[in-house]
Amino acid sequence: MNKLLLRGRVLTFVDEPQSVDDQSAYTYFEDGAVLIENGKIAEVGDYAAIATVAGPLAEIVDHRPRLILPGFIDTHLHFPQTQAIASYGAQLLEWLNTYIFVEEQKFSSTAHADFIAGRFMDELLRNGTTSAVAYCSVHPESVDAYFAAAEKRNMLMIGGKVMMDRNAPDALRDTPQSGYDDTKALIAKWHGRSRAQYAISPRFAITSTPEQMEMSRALVREHPECYVQTHLSENRDEIAFATSLYPSAKDYTDIYAGYDLLGEKTLFGHCIFLSDREIVALAETKSVAVFCPTSNLFLGSGLFDRDRFRSLGARISVATDVGGGTSFSMLETMSEAYKVLHVQGQRLSPFASYYMMTLGNARALGLEDRIGSLRAGTDADIAVLDSRAKPAMELRMRTATTLAEELFILQTMGDDRSVAEVYVAGKAMKSRIDNAVPLARSLAVPEPA
Ligand SMILES: [Zn+2]
Repeated sequence: MNKLLLRGRVLTFVDEPQSVDDQSAYTYFEDGAVLIENGKIAEVGDYAAIATVAGPLAEIVDHRPRLILPGFIDTHLHFPQTQAIASYGAQLLEWLNTYIFVEEQKFSSTAHADFIAGRFMDELLRNGTTSAVAYCSVHPESVDAYFAAAEKRNMLMIGGKVMMDRNAPDALRDTPQSGYDDTKALIAKWHGRSRAQYAISPRFAITSTPEQMEMSRALVREHPECYVQTHLSENRDEIAFATSLYPSAKDYTDIYAGYDLLGEKTLFGHCIFLSDREIVALAETKSVAVFCPTSNLFLGSGLFDRDRFRSLGARISVATDVGGGTSFSMLETMSEAYKVLHVQGQRLSPFASYYMMTLGNARALGLEDRIGSLRAGTDADIAVLDSRAKPAMELRMRTATTLAEELFILQTMGDDRSVAEVYVAGKAMKSRIDNAVPLARSLAVPEPA
């Protein structure tokens, strides 16, 4: 049995912090260790105690003085938009038509899909993200590329083919029947294979006819084991257009409710302009509202009102929403989340922030038994963070005296450079990608001509 012992400052959450100094929400070992056996965490605790348990044969990697945390989880992004980040000047509907619906047509090419899928997974890992929920393009081949790239890296990834049968270019439209058939085949092929999980993915109400929404309902009914992902209430023009297409629905949320798409495995991206009635509908069905701060700012969409979701008892998660979002980094995402909430008079404490990126998002996905925390029996998906990765960070860190301060500096000033190493199921990945050692070279797919 091969044993790997990581030594460092270990931080993991057991619950959501209720205040800025709620120490009951997390466990922290100043000289800590994580013992990994066969891709899973076997023990976590003080180094001296864990080293004794590990025995003399364990390989030891000393990450001191860095922080060892669970790998980050991203609950909403688009893998075909990897090369469309930073597209200038448009709000949602214009941005989709001008940039995104052009970019996604490239994914009819298997070679292109394979190339981007590999780079996408590597970029997640370079940023400390070990699991994510992504939309693929309308092409079933893009889903094959996505899950194959995840499988090569042994990552727990969730995703699915977008279904869209109107208000998009011909080359990106499926039909209610082909969307259904392709989704069924992809679920059969991928869901539960390696660490893959499937998400049934009607893009949003604007790009699906009532007939396609019916097919989505059928898929959800036939596959309760799968996730559902879509977009909801991101932009005022989008809301007006969506509700005009479904005139009998009470509001945008009611469009999806009318097809039984609300539920505890459903992730609704954005949820910026929901009425109290709509938030209560999400709360009653345990649906998850996904907060995408960099995207909401970049596309000029609006500000996510976390406290209203909280007061009405609705579940939330946090995500990058690349390529509307501007960074793969969950640290940068939480830095923007802090600002989006701050401008509304809402506080996001450093501990609450790191909870959201890890255990909070794992709970939103119902995967807290497998990922999102460092405890015996969970998968060894781990991020090692360096609070002094840049000169300005090192200088700032000289004045930091508490863990909370350090976490906040890391979030506010950090990015992929602050991620020193990433482990996926116990295997070091970031150093392999960055140094292009033989494994990374074997994973790399050349860019198609
Ligand atoms: Zn999105």
